[in-house]
Amino acid sequence: MAKKVLVSGGAGYIGSHVTVELIAAGYDVVVADNMSNCDISGFEGVKKITGREDIPFYEIDCCDFASVDKLFTEHKIDAVIHFAAFKAVGESVSEPIKYYYNNLVSFLNILEVAKKHGGCNVLFSSSATVYGESKVLPVTEQTPRMPAMSPYGNTKTMCEDILRDVVYATSTQDAVIKGIALRYFNPIGAHPSALIGELPRGVPNNLVPYITQTAIGKRECLSIFGNDYPTEDGTCLRDFIDVTDLAKAHVAAVARMFGGKMKKGYEIFNVGTGRPVSVYELVTKFEKVSGVKLNYKFVPRREGDVMALWADPTFANEELGWKAERTVEETLASAWAWEKYLAEKNK
Ligand code: UDP
Repeated sequence: MAKKVLVSGGAGYIGSHVTVELIAAGYDVVVADNMSNCDISGFEGVKKITGREDIPFYEIDCCDFASVDKLFTEHKIDAVIHFAAFKAVGESVSEPIKYYYNNLVSFLNILEVAKKHGGCNVLFSSSATVYGESKVLPVTEQTPRMPAMSPYGNTKTMCEDILRDVVYATSTQDAVIKGIALRYFNPIGAHPSALIGELPRGVPNNLVPYITQTAIGKRECLSIFGNDYPTEDGTCLRDFIDVTDLAKAHVAAVARMFGGKMKKGYEIFNVGTGRPVSVYELVTKFEKVSGVKLNYKFVPRREGDVMALWADPTFANEELGWKAERTVEETLASAWAWEKYLAEKNK
């Protein structure tokens, strides 16, 4: 029988892409989402891409213990991939209680319920934000974490530690929890079908949705935050990873858990390309790929931004047998196709 994977936050940007790849790999998937930061179109897109109308969907808030408990009673869950979290860095600074409450309580509930139902594998969606402004680049999983720049970042660090401690404690108990944290770099792009992609509410905080919305005419002008960094072109350097490549890393991590291949009860993997690209470079690549001349201007640095961050993905490449495959150009083309699809849909 196929293993069953719960994807919490499965209707969101990354969760929807992961759901598609899990189904393609033959897993049974249950999706839970409280729809606080997405609409049902993401899940509808997943159903269209996979041709599966029967994916169980729970509109629940993981902060509600009873709802999570009911889901685990109705399904024998073999692994959880936990995405359900707030993710707006700026908002987390002004609303820290909301962020700490939501991101910690939802994860604690997942862990407690998993334990109550006999234990399972837990994959936590972490972030390269835990590295802060690293002195050493590229960063490996051994690179020390730095104090987070925001409550959002803090919740990622804290949830990693919670998972590590729960794995340690349960290793000698009846209900064992094994854990993997995947540290994402900068996920961008959309599914090649253009049926699912990033759907930011209001003004986008992230670079690529801002670029595509400017190109389509939804935004007047892209602000490039800082061109006076000590980098080649003065703009920040990031490791932009295609969302489908990222999704496939989850499938590889789940397979590692189910295959008994983990070397420790709790493991961490960087999920990046290993290739630094500057913000300005990304803008020019987008112009080339789309054929659109982008309206942009340089403005002062954004508070809280690190100058440069990219991954050493060797550990994931070797241990997960996974590697980012798409070029930045292919990924930008997918983001542009998605923006055009949205414009057509909303006509
Ligand atoms: N950025 C920018 N203009 C924008 C949004 C982002 O210049 O409208 C820059 C930002 O300063 C950073 C990079 O793009 O250097 C990536 O930012 P994003 O918010 O997408 O991800 P982060 O790396 O902050 O997680």
